[in-house]
Amino acid sequence: MRRLSVALVTALLLFGQASGQNRGISDAEVARVHRSTLLIDTHNDVPSRTVEGFDIGARTGTGHTDIARLKEGGVGAQFFAVYVAASYVTGNRSANRTLQMIDTVRHDIIERYPNDFLLATSAKDIEEAHRRGKIAALMGIEGGHAIENNLRLLRDYYDLGIRYMTLTHSNTNDWADSSGDVTDPNIKHHNGLTALGKDIIGEMNRLGMMVDISHVADKTFWDTLEVSKAPIFASHSSCRALTKHARNMTDEMIVALAKKGGVVQVNFYCGFISQKFRDNDAADTKALDARMAQETAGKNLSEPDRQILSEKLRKEMRLSRATLADVVDHIDHIRKIAGIDAIGLGGDFDGVSCTPIGLEDVSKYPNLTRALLEKGYSADDIRKIYGGNFLRVMRAVEAAAGK
Ligand SMILES: [Zn+2]
Repeated sequence: MRRLSVALVTALLLFGQASGQNRGISDAEVARVHRSTLLIDTHNDVPSRTVEGFDIGARTGTGHTDIARLKEGGVGAQFFAVYVAASYVTGNRSANRTLQMIDTVRHDIIERYPNDFLLATSAKDIEEAHRRGKIAALMGIEGGHAIENNLRLLRDYYDLGIRYMTLTHSNTNDWADSSGDVTDPNIKHHNGLTALGKDIIGEMNRLGMMVDISHVADKTFWDTLEVSKAPIFASHSSCRALTKHARNMTDEMIVALAKKGGVVQVNFYCGFISQKFRDNDAADTKALDARMAQETAGKNLSEPDRQILSEKLRKEMRLSRATLADVVDHIDHIRKIAGIDAIGLGGDFDGVSCTPIGLEDVSKYPNLTRALLEKGYSADDIRKIYGGNFLRVMRAVEAAAGK
């Protein structure tokens, strides 16, 4: 009796939720449009887990990414982040870490699951993988210190399959300023890109490696836009006009990048898309840190495991989160100021400890399709946002190579 009533209530709630969201758009329509896209997400940090032994083929329910959820979400191509933490700069261990991260993508993800993934290093490869029903797997380096100031390493990484490099992470390196420490007087800054930084952009252009300006300081962005011969892009960045974070892009930056043919791949992290989240951040972080200290006392958790625990506690403690509607607001803002051709997706899954309600992990992408259809976006618009725009930029970078 009790079980029956729980089931009934659940069914009614689900029905109410679905009919409340529908506004005339059927599940079949959402599925049809979603399936018609080639969904390319340009930033996912699950390699930081696989390098520690996480099996992407196991449905553990932890974190944001595994094969089953990528398929459920209809992800057609995934850029895996070859993330090199700033801490590896000490003792010159950045190249070592970069090679280990490239190995985990190639060995633990692609070679381990050849029926599910196909290594892709070009726009054509992405489409070919999609035709064969596989997820195109690509790699981008996050943190320009990975090349240890040496163009030879940049070329080696290209040969190993790297197709974009984020010029900085949160740390300023020897040739580019980062938004993460640009106001820190203890850090030596360069006022944007140095001469070496400009040479690096030139070599990336020549190779056909995409130049990613997520994380960089504003002046670095403007210098890069000026010197790059190919369009540049942001692999995982959102709008500063909506959410005041130094790592988000101003309207002027978005418009200028779009004018040169680039694309902004919207980041879903709560702290980059919700001003409410940011306003509560100091108090929430204090409460969360206290709980984290209790829960991790005597334990030696890896960084990804800390992130997963922090996300779990945030939910338990009912602290601020963002929602799917916030993601749509950022997409909508870019459309208004720069047009539909300037928008893409770079979720930052498994790189953050807070994802939006409704877009909790890679399986939830169809919810975004529904939300965009409800907002009046056409199927063509959605296909551009999900991958068409990015493929255009990737092709332009390929075409500019060798020159
Ligand atoms: Zn990042």
